[in-house]
Amino acid sequence: MAEDITHDQLEDHTPPSMHSAILATTPSGVVIEVAGSAGYCWGVERAIDLAVEASANKSRPTFTLGELIHNKLTVDRLEREHDIHVVQAAEEAPEGSALVVRAHGVPPQVREVARQRNLDLVDGTCPLVDIIHRRARELRAEGWTVCILGQRTHPEVIGILGSIDGEGFVLEKPEDVAALPPLKRVGVVLQSTLIAEKAAKIIAELVPRCRQIKHFNTICHVTTERQTEAKDLAHRSDVMLIVGSPHSSNTLKLEQVCRMEGCESHRIENVGDIDLAWFRGRKRVGIHGGASTPRETLDEIVRYLCDRLTEPEAAPV
Ligand code: SF4
Repeated sequence: MAEDITHDQLEDHTPPSMHSAILATTPSGVVIEVAGSAGYCWGVERAIDLAVEASANKSRPTFTLGELIHNKLTVDRLEREHDIHVVQAAEEAPEGSALVVRAHGVPPQVREVARQRNLDLVDGTCPLVDIIHRRARELRAEGWTVCILGQRTHPEVIGILGSIDGEGFVLEKPEDVAALPPLKRVGVVLQSTLIAEKAAKIIAELVPRCRQIKHFNTICHVTTERQTEAKDLAHRSDVMLIVGSPHSSNTLKLEQVCRMEGCESHRIENVGDIDLAWFRGRKRVGIHGGASTPRETLDEIVRYLCDRLTEPEAAPV
């Protein structure tokens, strides 16, 4: 039964999104390494497949609620090749059309609007995000005060809070704990892309303020794998490129992880954002990408660097 699926069981059924790491050497001798876990994550790939499948039914138009993923290249391709358009609210989709929900999920209120408007709701919510909704509802039903650790304005967190009718608290940082009212029993769930160390710091602040804590680690295993690989790659690189949108939470977390490792890191969306001065005197460049960044964008960056970094540089003094 769906209700019994746990995070661990789901991990057993979700491929880890691993490719082979790419190693290339530029004519100037700079070694470029692309993380094996880069590329679309399983949840994003699933949402794209569902949208494309829905668009095959030409008897009604297909829309996505917000851009399906944080990647312009893919959003443009979906529009061009599959006639999939974007609306910003369920109310904007014409009655009877198909409306695809992103992997981040939505609050139940959006499903209700879709039902009232007779929309064919195609649920691209990542099953791992579904589990967070379910955990939050369970905690509330058992009488715990629900705290969601994550970014207040992120669609995933808005969806989780909506799943408990807004009856919970969102904590972004340890300092937020001080503003909470007195609490006895606190149930905690985490945004899927949270950095584990950050979650631990917030929970450490919560512990002395309540009698009991029940905590579900709902950080997605794909996120964990990516952050671990980014950290390792940053450790052996002179400079890191993190490829993804400034709105992509998991992309920003990858950048943070690399900076925490002490590696100079630049977030870029595509080759147009690259400054060749970053590579002056550098020997190893690491590249990782957010869960919405297609492998083709990373391949293009590798080709660009191999074409441009042609002159051997003097080693830094
Ligand atoms: S990062 Fe994890 S939770 Fe988010 S869509 Fe991908 S697999 Fe799902």
